[in-house]
Amino acid sequence: MTGIPDSFGRTINYLRISVTDRCNLRCLYCMPVEGVPQMSHSEILSYEEIWTVVRAAAEMGISRIRLTGGEPLVRAELPKLVHMISEVEGIEELSLTTNGTLLNEYALELKQAGLSRVNVSLDTLKTDQFRYITRLGRLETVLDGIQAAKEAGLGPVKINTVVMRGINDDEILDFARMTYEGWHVRFIELMPFKDVAEFVPSIELRQHISLLGNLEPCAPVTGNGPATYYRLAGTRGTIGFVSPLTETSFCSRCNRMRLTPDGKLRPCLLGEDEIDLKTPLRNKASMEEIKRLILEAVASKPERHHLEGHDVRLVNRKMSQIGG
Ligand code: SAM
Repeated sequence: MTGIPDSFGRTINYLRISVTDRCNLRCLYCMPVEGVPQMSHSEILSYEEIWTVVRAAAEMGISRIRLTGGEPLVRAELPKLVHMISEVEGIEELSLTTNGTLLNEYALELKQAGLSRVNVSLDTLKTDQFRYITRLGRLETVLDGIQAAKEAGLGPVKINTVVMRGINDDEILDFARMTYEGWHVRFIELMPFKDVAEFVPSIELRQHISLLGNLEPCAPVTGNGPATYYRLAGTRGTIGFVSPLTETSFCSRCNRMRLTPDGKLRPCLLGEDEIDLKTPLRNKASMEEIKRLILEAVASKPERHHLEGHDVRLVNRKMSQIGG
């Protein structure tokens, strides 16, 4: 496997790029209803600057890129960036994490620009509850967006669901049943950035879903990300569990780094360390210098996060500013 070896035996081959801190939803566990102070256009990396980082990373063995945000599709001309990255030698997979609200409009264009596939965040299948959780969105636009992504060939589409006790934990079986129709669903443990609800441990979800039948461990449909996967007998779709809070081996499989909209490379989502790439990029640093900074970030990647016993509300950035 190509990639950059870190100090703990992991190979880093995956870069998540947050292209904007802006979002058109206000999910109650992610953003305050009034939004967060926005970065100005000059503060965030241009597409050319992002492209330079990707080229440097690809030369070092990074082969997978994910675009995220904020909501990546609210940034103007995102297909242009998709096209630029998809042409970079060494990039084997380019995917997008989105809330799906604008997918109906962009799915085909994104596919034509070279996007491989999408993950769509969707926490409820109920119209009223969708409004309650996202405060601004309409469920139908997301469902249409998911369908449009599938039809455009941006599959396998994965649905990401953050489970919150007392808010959407009564819908777990409905989401699990979507795998009968071939959808891939991943349940994500809520990280306590805000005091909105209690997380539901993945083990509890697994036990609950077992009411529908035996959950057989299976391989991921794509990639080698942080989820562990299962399948209900006879289904085409898979059920994944992303368990940053309860799975002790979670970090030992971490293969990623994150680039924030303002050009900071973060070795760990939940750490405080960041390496500034924007200043050197704007000072016309050489490719060798950018590569040296990427190596420095990989070398400073911690062995594990310290979510337990640590108040993540104090993490220096919001999820929307990192690209959760
Ligand atoms: N707007 C895009 C979206 O909705 O997918 C991309 C950015 S969003 C921050 C990325 C993912 O982070 C979403 O799946 C969201 O549910 C998740 N997320 C945000 N805050 C979270 C939290 N406190 N715990 C777990 N997941 C969270």
